[in-house]
Amino acid sequence: MNDFIYKKSLGQNFLIDKNVLKRIVDCVPLEGKSLVIEIGPGSGNLTKEIAMVATNVLCYEIDDRLETVLDDALVDFNNVEIIFDDFLKRDIKEDIKEIDYDNLYLIANLPYYITTPIIEKIIASNLPFKYITVMVQKEVGDRFNAKPGTREYNSLTVYLNYYFNLKKEFIVSRNSFMPKPNVDSMIISLIKKDNLLYLKDKDKFNKLLKDAFKFKRKNIRNNLKNYDLDKIGDILKKYGYDLTVRAEELSLEIFVELANNL
Ligand code: SAM
Repeated sequence: MNDFIYKKSLGQNFLIDKNVLKRIVDCVPLEGKSLVIEIGPGSGNLTKEIAMVATNVLCYEIDDRLETVLDDALVDFNNVEIIFDDFLKRDIKEDIKEIDYDNLYLIANLPYYITTPIIEKIIASNLPFKYITVMVQKEVGDRFNAKPGTREYNSLTVYLNYYFNLKKEFIVSRNSFMPKPNVDSMIISLIKKDNLLYLKDKDKFNKLLKDAFKFKRKNIRNNLKNYDLDKIGDILKKYGYDLTVRAEELSLEIFVELANNL
């Protein structure tokens, strides 16, 4: 890696603290024949730790300059496959169809510039990920895990909480990376909920969330002015609110009820 030129545009900040790498993998309770997907193996530092405990590992790396580095790093493992391509362009179902597994997981130190599209793609894939343990920018992790009524609570918080129980694992200092980024990071686990709340139409729910949170300072009456405000008012009343409430006060259950009734 000595003459490797890191590309900031690809989010290339590699973890160099061995202790942190091991702690990340220890967060995930792997069971049975496990298939772990890793996005962005980089130099293979985290991949090695995963490969030691998982049955199979499938990685996606966009930067093919890392091919020889990864070949060297992973020479002792025969359970790792690397696809050199943009994760966002792949059909994950197709990529894993030949792999025999009982349980599916995702572990990654994500490239931060595409954190949200990656998470949205994983959810849209409908694949049964049991545990998704990712490193994200600390502020983003705080948003994922925010409670209603706080500044960090937004549409992505509600969207994620619909599908997952979120668990903040630990904070990673910017000093654990090479090159050193400008922000600290958080390891967060998204653990699949066994029983999802009934939703008539997921697309409608997503759109409602985006609209409700569109202008942070505006209340529900203004952000949702193109919806049936009488109906919304009736539902909010049941929970002790009216149309002057802001989206950041409303719980997942209220958004689900609104989406199912509009
Ligand atoms: N796993 C290594 C670690 O923990 O040190 C590297 C993590 S680094 C934060 C992010 C990695 O994602 C880089 O190797 C980068 O090249 C890769 N990457 C960036 N965009 C990608 C994409 N669209 N698809 C797949 N890999 C991507």
